[in-house]
Amino acid sequence: MARGANPDHRTSARAGARSNGLVLYRGPSRLDGRSIVAVLTGLRRRSRNAKTGPMLQTWILRERVDPVRAAHTGADASVCGACPLRSSPSISRRCYVNLGQAPLAIYAALRRGAYPRASDAARIQAAAAGHAVRLGSYGDPAAVPTWIWTALVSRASSWTGYTHQWARSDFDARLLDLCMASVETDADIADLRARHPGARYFRIRRPGSGLARGEMQCPASAEAGHRLGCAECGACAGRSKRGRSISITAHGAVALRFWLPRA
Ligand code: SF4
Repeated sequence: MARGANPDHRTSARAGARSNGLVLYRGPSRLDGRSIVAVLTGLRRRSRNAKTGPMLQTWILRERVDPVRAAHTGADASVCGACPLRSSPSISRRCYVNLGQAPLAIYAALRRGAYPRASDAARIQAAAAGHAVRLGSYGDPAAVPTWIWTALVSRASSWTGYTHQWARSDFDARLLDLCMASVETDADIADLRARHPGARYFRIRRPGSGLARGEMQCPASAEAGHRLGCAECGACAGRSKRGRSISITAHGAVALRFWLPRA
């Protein structure tokens, strides 16, 4: 393989129709212009995540930096932007995604050429038709052009998505039609309402605190008795759903990690 060969030609030559994944996007990050890749997985082997239920997953990765190294060096800004759960010089990373597991395995598969690239919007639409899909299992959907997500969900049975990038001046507000705005504080909620009236949000709240006005309890939460998984619920789909904003209580290690001081 010659260095610099088109990676899409490389993947299409090796990856057949039976691949478990599909490259949805390969190009500059909308967050910082660096090269990123968005991959859809679960086409052959569905996720067994207990909270979400069976959903296709999407992973947003740096093109040539593995996700563990990207998080250590700050190169993950291309896929996570200003997410407060990234590491900083003074605060360690607190995101719940274990980068050494699925993201690293998917990056390795990508580098091996395991995933063909979707040639156009019709292929992206067909890939998720009739399935539940999660936008940004790792990485922020705002790093990828919105039309990719619009195509992906157009024939999906349900989807979920979350973005932390809504306060950026260059944020594509159309993404809030598909995704929840991730918020952490009352100040975030006020800022969101000022910037994007009508946007729905997802808030992880402190143990012992109640729901705010206009919020509903996530039905997958312990408090709600784990009534539904995301695949069935599908409430976290931005303004495409007319319901309330969503809140869930942080538990255990997530709670401890989440409420550490911010950088
Ligand atoms: S509200 Fe529904 S879609 Fe959102 S996290 Fe909870 S179960 Fe998943």
